[in-house]
Amino acid sequence: MKLYNLKDHNEQVSFVQAIKQGLGKQQGLFFPLDLPVFELTDIEQLLEQDFVTRSRRLLSAFIADEVSEDALHQCVKAAFEFPAPVVQVAEDVACLELFHGPTLAFKDFGGRFMAQMLAQVAGDQPVTILTATSGDTGAAVAHAFYGLQSVRVVILYPQGKISPLQEKLFCTLGGNIHTMAIDGDFDACQALVKQAFDDRALKKALHLNSANSINISRLLAQICYYFEAVAQLPQDARNQLVISVPSGNFGDLTAGLLAKSLGLPVKRFIAATNANDTVPRFLSNGQWQPHPTVATLSNAMDVSQPNNWPRVEELFRRKVWQWSELGHAAVSDETTKDTLRELAERGYISEPHAATAYRALRDQLQQGEFGLFLGTAHPAKFKQSVEAILGQKLSLPKALALRADLPLLSHRLPARFSELRQFLLSLPA
Ligand SMILES: *Cc1c(COP(=O)(O)O)cnc(C)c1O
Repeated sequence: MKLYNLKDHNEQVSFVQAIKQGLGKQQGLFFPLDLPVFELTDIEQLLEQDFVTRSRRLLSAFIADEVSEDALHQCVKAAFEFPAPVVQVAEDVACLELFHGPTLAFKDFGGRFMAQMLAQVAGDQPVTILTATSGDTGAAVAHAFYGLQSVRVVILYPQGKISPLQEKLFCTLGGNIHTMAIDGDFDACQALVKQAFDDRALKKALHLNSANSINISRLLAQICYYFEAVAQLPQDARNQLVISVPSGNFGDLTAGLLAKSLGLPVKRFIAATNANDTVPRFLSNGQWQPHPTVATLSNAMDVSQPNNWPRVEELFRRKVWQWSELGHAAVSDETTKDTLRELAERGYISEPHAATAYRALRDQLQQGEFGLFLGTAHPAKFKQSVEAILGQKLSLPKALALRADLPLLSHRLPARFSELRQFLLSLPA
């Protein structure tokens, strides 16, 4: 697969290069040069297959020229080893639950596939992933790479500034996962990571890679669960399907739109945000005017300059789709709380991110349509706010409860680059 840089169409790279590099020149995003399309009969056949087989075929349509079917099958099998069930919430609405992976959020799908692909293309040159986290991404990265040969992971986080449960989730793994509690705040951690990437000798010696969230491999992986959702729906729902996506950086929505461009029957998408509403305002008045980011209940969506948006624009341009076909809504925290209670009354315990998508869907779904909203995180991940809103206790999922009892394996380090550098160079190969 060839990809081009959205900021400079002359820069073209292979899929393998794009995975290793992440971003192109001027921080430009990579986008596929060819957009494969399946015939309707192929789509119907794909929908009959199991998750792993179907996902391998979908991904092959993009990258078969660079990754063998066998290798891809192994990677998909290892990455997608947990289910993505569609759970009925009302007669005409269901939730696609994407939170049954090791860190209880949909980012496990993209993160784990990216990790498998990076290990696959690393060859005999071990890669070191270096990243800073304020909590969530660290856990997803750690679990995605855990146990992979030829990849070492070093995660920096601010000592005492992440929740104890979050810390347990990724600092108890050991093996190829090295966690560093830094005496400083998140910005200090990020500054250290930046210094490491600016240190050319170090970067070369360790084959440093950032495994960041805009890596194209993540999006390709996320396409697969949209097909998995449709495969679980009855025929009449498939024909009238509206999908609502809780959005922050708009990676998930991009993947959904790519699924549609491959031929998946989706009548319409809805982009749901919280008060950080740059995109809904753009879709209603055509003006791109980011406001300062505000903190909300759905904090993984607190983004006012969504970094995947240029990919959405490019896809609309390439497919000659109209913006009017994309539904949108910005949902306030007050409405999100009411919506969580409404869902609980229906017998469905959700969390703030998914609730924004459900609200937009419920408000915009028309007679005869079937609505699907994405459940992007397990309610237990937002235990405190969900318990306060619903006035009831939530129990921890087993995987998380087990981790809570394990000892922390983190190293403690002052926020000094010289000490980090020394530590990195002393890591076992
Ligand atoms: C990351 C995240 C989102 C937003 O996904 P994007 O792809 O960035 O739009 C929504 N919900 C949860 C729980 C998340 O972690």
